[in-house]
Amino acid sequence: MPDFPYRLAADKLLAWFRPEARPMPWRELKADGTPHSAYSIWISESMLQQTQVATVIPYWKRWMERWPDAAALAQATEQEVMKMWEGLGYYNRARNLLKAAQAIVTRFGGKFPTEHSELLTLPGIGPYTAGAICSIAFNQPRPIVDGNVVRVLCRLLTITFEQIPSELKSRDLLWRISTELVCRAAESDHPRACSYFNQAMMDLGATVCTPQNPSCLLCPLNAMCKARAEGSQSLYPCKKNLPRTVHREDVAVFVRDEQGRVLIERRSGESRNQGFWQMPLAEDTDHKKAVSYFRKKHIRLEEKQLTQLKHAITKFQITVKLYPGQTDAKFKEKKDLRFVTAEELEQLPVTASHSKLLRFLQKKGL
Ligand code: SF4
Repeated sequence: MPDFPYRLAADKLLAWFRPEARPMPWRELKADGTPHSAYSIWISESMLQQTQVATVIPYWKRWMERWPDAAALAQATEQEVMKMWEGLGYYNRARNLLKAAQAIVTRFGGKFPTEHSELLTLPGIGPYTAGAICSIAFNQPRPIVDGNVVRVLCRLLTITFEQIPSELKSRDLLWRISTELVCRAAESDHPRACSYFNQAMMDLGATVCTPQNPSCLLCPLNAMCKARAEGSQSLYPCKKNLPRTVHREDVAVFVRDEQGRVLIERRSGESRNQGFWQMPLAEDTDHKKAVSYFRKKHIRLEEKQLTQLKHAITKFQITVKLYPGQTDAKFKEKKDLRFVTAEELEQLPVTASHSKLLRFLQKKGL
């Protein structure tokens, strides 16, 4: 382990942390003065992956009102869960929440597991989420390492990711450092030491030790930070080996029937966002190729583009080009490709990009 004043760092972070500094409803006490349940922490942590706190808060509130515990969630259908998650992206997280809630009911009698090893057996719960639940909800000395924590630790101890083999070693090292820190925090007499320490680490990375221009003057760890001493904060963590961005174009078609209903299709079981609805879409293509693709589905794609929208999913920067179209005489509706009214559409989970396109069409009165 690198030489570092672990206990002092833990004490300084604990003294710095104020749960109200970044207000989050799952951090507040409930009306009866007790903390929120492990289930609610799990839901918040799952929503927070790749998503800003401000975006998550209304989703979390709606979710907790509808499904206040794992037993209630286990009764939901996948379509209801997808609809509730609509707009948060990375939909496998929502599917896994449902599967994990069902597993909690069948394997743990509906009682939320308190052991790290038990949590790791549930769908969608990896070392980060298990560590976050065990430390935040149960105050256990379990480490967490996410993008924010990686940045803080790499800067504090000047750890680099030069090549892939050493990156793997560094990541393992970061988990060990995080464990050491939360175990030293547990030695303090703070009643919620592990919970507060890990939340403090998350807040430090999100608000002080930011990717650009970290606020080192305000940082409670500035006196022990090796990167600050060298003035090399911007070099950590090393950005080598990050996946490169891939640009892609998709073509979508907007078709209405004589009754004003819109044609939509359901994404197949194999694809990203599976189970979500969208206007018929040809991925990674151009207008010419999309014409033949849609012809096979008995949809005629017109020439004049209606609009386009850019969005990002993992490493993909996607431009969706939307064209009007018509079905031909041979077109037949199917279970996963059909016309729906505006009211029916309201009840279905729709991909975020197509929700935006549909709102655009509505605004234009199309
Ligand atoms: S001193 Fe600066 S670089 Fe070091 S941990 Fe604090 S904010 Fe990050």
